[in-house]
Amino acid sequence: CFLAFAILSSVLSVVASQLRPLPAAGLPDDLFSLGIAPRIRTDRNSTAKASTDFGQMVKAAPEAVFHPATPADIAELIRFSASSAAPFPVAPRGEGHSWRGQALAPGGVVVDMSSLGRGHRAPRINVSAAGAEPFVDAGGEQLWVDVLRATLRHGLAPRVWTDYLRLTVGGTLSNAGIGGQAFRHGPQIANVQELDVVTGTGEMVTCSRDVNSDLFFAALGGLGQFGVITRARIRLAPAPKRVRWVRLAYSDVATFTKDQELLISNRTGLIGFDYVEGQVQLNRSFIEGPKSTPFFSGTDLARLARLASRTGSVAIYYIEAAMYYTEDNAISMDKKMKALLDQLSFEKGFVFTKDVTFMQFLDRVREEESVLRSAGVWEVPHPWLNLFVPRSRILDFDNGVFKALLKDANPAGIILMYPMNKDMWDDRMTAVTPTMNDDVFYAVSMLWSALSMDDVPQLERGNKAVLDFCDQAGIECKQYLPHYTSQDGWRQHFGTKWRQIAELKARYDPQALLSPGQRIFSKPV
Ligand code: FAD
Repeated sequence: CFLAFAILSSVLSVVASQLRPLPAAGLPDDLFSLGIAPRIRTDRNSTAKASTDFGQMVKAAPEAVFHPATPADIAELIRFSASSAAPFPVAPRGEGHSWRGQALAPGGVVVDMSSLGRGHRAPRINVSAAGAEPFVDAGGEQLWVDVLRATLRHGLAPRVWTDYLRLTVGGTLSNAGIGGQAFRHGPQIANVQELDVVTGTGEMVTCSRDVNSDLFFAALGGLGQFGVITRARIRLAPAPKRVRWVRLAYSDVATFTKDQELLISNRTGLIGFDYVEGQVQLNRSFIEGPKSTPFFSGTDLARLARLASRTGSVAIYYIEAAMYYTEDNAISMDKKMKALLDQLSFEKGFVFTKDVTFMQFLDRVREEESVLRSAGVWEVPHPWLNLFVPRSRILDFDNGVFKALLKDANPAGIILMYPMNKDMWDDRMTAVTPTMNDDVFYAVSMLWSALSMDDVPQLERGNKAVLDFCDQAGIECKQYLPHYTSQDGWRQHFGTKWRQIAELKARYDPQALLSPGQRIFSKPV
């Protein structure tokens, strides 16, 4: 009996020690007597995992990691911090796919959003397919790939996608969420109808264009500064079954951009492509880069390399485009495709085609991820630079960056370059686009991989040279997924929106608790 008692009490004490985490030095002791305390982890194993991100450019440990079961748990944590004599920072972490520490909370608490989706009886992705305007309610922690799977079961899907689907709903909506469908439907933030947000005072608010609209517009593209998005209602449309996916090669940048802009306008007289992006492949990468990719075979790449050397171009440009269809309209899709390609001026014979399911198309980066993972080059530092460049300066940008700064360099990674229509962005949202009068701007993404830590300083210098060039040439670039180290940088970034952003911050997160890793507000406003 004594032995049984001793075993039971030691089991209970182990359970209790698992339930009650050890207080962390930098956090108030009474945090650990709240009802949510068993969901807080202070062990090094937990904090180490939340100390860096996909970019591996910044490392900073939180004092604790919080695993909420419900949005109300998040509200309780934030309320506690906001009313504490020593408030601590709180950062929601989606998948940590940022690259400059934006989801870190040095000295504070990282909220592991994925816990919200775990062990729930009520699913946190709910499709409403019946009405004339179908929508999905998705938890902020949900991965887009899971939203896709759930909506496809109803023959529906959101209209705009990021290239990679292992990102969270709350994470991409805090930035903008761009991809090849955005020219027609706007970024993901333009396709949201309603949000549930836990503000920086711990209030749980439902907001939309009509109700609590200032919080709605603030949170979309809001870099996590005004609240934690715990649910988003997203518009749906009928999903196609299949996708004809093409890449068209160009050696001349002016022809490439002219064709891209034709494709995103309504000027083709046809319904056109459903997805339009583009890539830049620097010449040297044909020699030094991979000899085949998930899209291009070795033979394709050898032909493209010959094209590059024949034309003497510093880079080859690809339009990547896709047309959706279902089996019963395959013939009309073929005709439409041919008519569309006839209007374009890519290098004769340089069209590369794939035919895949809708799911395979949207989840295409997964294959690239597996290739990079197996080569050991996925989990490496990523000093990425993403810019929005006004259409009127894109050729100057190309000339100064790809044809000069990067001419003799060959950083590992890929470069995306594709146009979007500015009128598809709602300027009331926090996300910013170039303010020039151009109706089109380009997303230019330099997605570098540092194959060793030693490559990082050089890549960083290269990024700085690009930004300096834009400054000197008077090209008004806006960073997407922006990173600045001073508030001045942020003021310039937001331009005329800055004052309103500071006011909204003072209203919704007056203690500046939320997402400190963005480094926008470091003290109460
Ligand atoms: P995290 O990195 O975890 O968080 C990002 C920021 O949002 C942090 O400040 C965090 O505190 C805050 N946050 C997280 N969750 C919430 C929430 N629920 N509510 C409020 N704030 C929150 N972006 C595109 O637009 N288009 C692309 O095609 C694209 N492709 C990508 C491909 C890869 C391989 C990678 C790594 C990234 C890509 N991104 C793309 C960038 C991506 O949108 C960002 O990394 C974004 O931050 C989403 O990542 P996440 O969900 O892991 O968020």
